[in-house]
Amino acid sequence: MKVCIICQKDETKTSMKLKVKDDQLIRVIRTIKSSIGVAKNNELYVCDSDIQAYKERRKKFERDAVLFGAVSIGIILVMGGLPLLAGQFNLFIILVSVLVAAFFFLFAVLFKYVPAVTEGSINATTTINKKGK
Ligand SMILES: [Zn+2]
Repeated sequence: MKVCIICQKDETKTSMKLKVKDDQLIRVIRTIKSSIGVAKNNELYVCDSDIQAYKERRKKFERDAVLFGAVSIGIILVMGGLPLLAGQFNLFIILVSVLVAAFFFLFAVLFKYVPAVTEGSINATTTINKKGK
């Protein structure tokens, strides 16, 4: 089944030029889903009427990912760095702060994830946009 990631509809009948890239994170999400038995194994697309909405969400996700990265670094600096400032070197606390930051980053990104689309289909939309203008 072909499903649009924006409107979640089964869009087998509509034309969909944007195919979602089967990247590492999609595979991780799929593995998690199949291990808890909720995988649908749909083919992910963006339907033509949602291209604009998709682009905005993807842009927002890219901005959010930078923010999550900054917060993660902040967690490491505060948690791992404060003992250093106090003159104490504690490897355990540094390791824990890195783990906490990594988990925060992973979950934040997984929760907000808007996948990329395949390069061929991006070029196809650019052509569509040029024609539209
Ligand atoms: Zn749609």
